[in-house]
Amino acid sequence: MYTARTAPDGSRPVAVVTGASAGIGAATARALAAAGFEVVVGARRFDRIEALAKEIGGRAIALDVTQRESVEAFARAVPRINVLVNNAGGAHGLDTIAESDDDRWRTMWEANVFGLMLVTRAFVPGLEASGDGHIVNVGSIAAQEVYPGGAGYTSAKHGVTAITETLRLELLGKPIRVTQVDPGMVETEFSVVRFDGDVERAKKVYAGVAPLVGDDIADIIAFVVTRPPHVNIDHIRVTPLAQATAMAVHREG
Ligand code: NAP
Repeated sequence: MYTARTAPDGSRPVAVVTGASAGIGAATARALAAAGFEVVVGARRFDRIEALAKEIGGRAIALDVTQRESVEAFARAVPRINVLVNNAGGAHGLDTIAESDDDRWRTMWEANVFGLMLVTRAFVPGLEASGDGHIVNVGSIAAQEVYPGGAGYTSAKHGVTAITETLRLELLGKPIRVTQVDPGMVETEFSVVRFDGDVERAKKVYAGVAPLVGDDIADIIAFVVTRPPHVNIDHIRVTPLAQATAMAVHREG
């Protein structure tokens, strides 16, 4: 259990979590609320974030990170911010480069890379004004390695690594910490989305493995954002015990 610091102006610190309608984002919103943050959740499926906001005493605002107007309206509705968790994103398909699907590539790049930039750009002024800001980018082990059929996703997540490392340089000297959390296999809706709603195929990804769950990543994010303000955790890579790399997975049975 971690405890949010009171904001420099004495108020409760505000955390924004994108992609909070499922999986890692929903778990992170709950963990940050439990730590004492006032949490603002964003995603396209408004009914889900509305129910979550009610549960955790936070605010829900509809958000499509790929649409500049949506991101700017979201940011206008959140005048005070201390922590931004850029979590929205995911994978679509497992197509080889030779058989790539244009729409899937665009969707992956727009949500994981372009959307992350739009949201970050909208909130950097507020994070700086807070005097104690923090950006947490949810990357992936795909942000560091590649696998066959994964290039649409791995290239996008490698882009997230480039953005995180660039932000760290560009924001040096400002009161904004920058962290990237790179999970391996986490059982969420991720694989169902990747395989266009094919639940049976998604289940096979986790067969014979005890995967991470959303709460495992939420716990890490709550940890990094509650360190003292002079402590910047640049990067955390976390996998299930049974997973060494994207391709090296030990399965029981
Ligand atoms: P998930 O259960 O499918 O959740 C994905 C979230 O992203 C949903 O809330 C979805 O909300 C949101 N999202 C997608 N596109 C969006 C858009 N255009 N605008 C706003 N929100 C959008 O998957 P997850 O595992 O929690 O994924 C969260 C993050 O972790 C992603 O960045 C993913 O790449 C990363 N990750 C996942 C794993 C894993 O194994 N699960 C591993 C490493 C990294 P709406 O559809 O309601 O908009």
